[in-house]
Amino acid sequence: MTPTQPILPAEQILAGDAPLMSLPVLRPPSDLFTRRAARLRQLADSHAMADFLRLCAVICEQQQALHDASQLDPRAALEKLAQALAPQLPSPVQASLDALLALDAAALSRLAERLLNGDYPADGPLFAALPLLGAALQAQATRSIRQRPLPEPQSQEARCPCCGGLPLASVLTRGDSGHAQRHVVCSMCSHAWPVGRVRCLGCGNSRDLRYYSLAPQDYEAPEPDHQRPHQTRGAQEVEACGECHGALKQVSLLQAPDAEAGADDLASLALDLLAGEAGYARLGFNPLFLPGT
Ligand SMILES: [Zn+2]
Ligand SMILES: [Zn+2]
Repeated sequence: MTPTQPILPAEQILAGDAPLMSLPVLRPPSDLFTRRAARLRQLADSHAMADFLRLCAVICEQQQALHDASQLDPRAALEKLAQALAPQLPSPVQASLDALLALDAAALSRLAERLLNGDYPADGPLFAALPLLGAALQAQATRSIRQRPLPEPQSQEARCPCCGGLPLASVLTRGDSGHAQRHVVCSMCSHAWPVGRVRCLGCGNSRDLRYYSLAPQDYEAPEPDHQRPHQTRGAQEVEACGECHGALKQVSLLQAPDAEAGADDLASLALDLLAGEAGYARLGFNPLFLPGT
């Protein structure tokens, strides 16, 4: 056999550069939002934010309906979502939604464009309904990118190679070779692109990284098992970078096979708070939860 590629330095292999080139971009399942809703309901049981997670599940079900219907502009998609959700929304959200729908088409499109980039008014009359605009945009982007050919992933892209969207969370899965592999799920089109397993998406640092997870109060960490490095890790973690102080949620299907990036991210917002208090800023966002000022 003639080798056609040079052997990479150990650090580069650890950071995932070599295997990435052969990993494809992944399409989301066609019933993504239905699955997300089911996982949210599962996580809501005995969760401190049960009502919030159940409301998100209802929104996800409507996102699935939007995704399965015809392509709509942001305004029409938001109107459809508003109609379906009207009886269930808390009154401050409904008032904010009315204000959002009162904007003219150009103003709403400008706001949608800002939201795609994670840039939005973090207070004021429109703020409470912005997650609904995010939900409408996410359902439409997922539908529209699904109909295009998949791009070849480049190594370590910080934004989605399909639509340019920001990351929502990363997901660890077991690859065909049996090794863990990591993809980042796009906050907008829900496609997932491959990244290094231990590497900051913000700056490429692969050395000074910390992992935060939540453990029950009476939890005693077992001795680390180096043969099975994921055995003692949380299903929901934050990867925090000591270089750029960026933080990315990581959801492990190795730990929890039922996990789903969007749902498990919403159920672990406490981790974002912890990381924020420790000085780390989230890379990307989840459209269903937009932090205010
Ligand atoms: Zn995307
Ligand atoms: Zn970094």
